[in-house]
Amino acid sequence: MKFKKIATWVLGFIVLVFLIVGGFYFISVRPVMQKMMAIHTINYDKDLTLVIGGGGNSGILTSDSLVLVVDTKMGEAGEPFYKQVKQIAGNRPVIVVNTHVHGDHTSGNHFFKQDKGTLIYAGGNYDKEFWKSDAKEENMATDWVKDSLVIKVGDETVTILNIPYNAHTQSDLLIYLHNHKMIFTGDVVLNKQSPAMFKRYKASSAGYVDAFNLMERRFDIKYVVPGHGSNGSVAIIDDFRTFFEDMKAAAADPSKKNDVLSKYGDWTQVPFIMSPAAAISYIKGENEK
Ligand SMILES: [Zn+2]
Repeated sequence: MKFKKIATWVLGFIVLVFLIVGGFYFISVRPVMQKMMAIHTINYDKDLTLVIGGGGNSGILTSDSLVLVVDTKMGEAGEPFYKQVKQIAGNRPVIVVNTHVHGDHTSGNHFFKQDKGTLIYAGGNYDKEFWKSDAKEENMATDWVKDSLVIKVGDETVTILNIPYNAHTQSDLLIYLHNHKMIFTGDVVLNKQSPAMFKRYKASSAGYVDAFNLMERRFDIKYVVPGHGSNGSVAIIDDFRTFFEDMKAAAADPSKKNDVLSKYGDWTQVPFIMSPAAAISYIKGENEK
């Protein structure tokens, strides 16, 4: 009898956990994933295509002799993106740049690696074993940018800059197109989306703010392609800077928290993972160190 009672309790507990996790997934995670996976291609000009969504935002910059690709998307979006690039590139060599290690920006790398000699650049501060375990061996970058790298793509000059401190992760790359006055920020800047900050990737709120200053000091930016959300003007960077200022203020003064949470209520977020509340508690954790 006792066993039956325990078994009923255990079963009830399992069902409850299942309902909570399932409910959380369907209510909070799935709609955000669907939004993140929706793909929108922008034929920006004759040399530049922006592929927004499908995981992280991407760019395809072409010239007569070379094609440069920023980020290779997430899961099932990787293969169609690779095909899209191949359709544009034809037989021209492709260079891939990964803004950072996260799978929503690197999952398509292995498709590009099928083509012998394809270079895949990533930030030089990552521990290589860490990258391998995090992004999978098949998506391993081939070359590492320690400081910065300049690549000529036809008339366009592209500067790839490794942020020299922890920001979104331990080695985020910024990609700046000089003629276009356009920057690809990876997840160091998001458009109306809460950041995902994790200790595993050494995320640093101070590093984010330093990175905003760095990009504005180093580059003459007119257009921004953030890691997630629509592309647009430098206002995207300003908004994200304000977000961090607000989160920092709320972390220091709990009476500000509710106002701040409602201010960013319409930003894309997943409770506990990437939300204003999660950012506040992450910053509090940083302050306690
Ligand atoms: Zn990321």
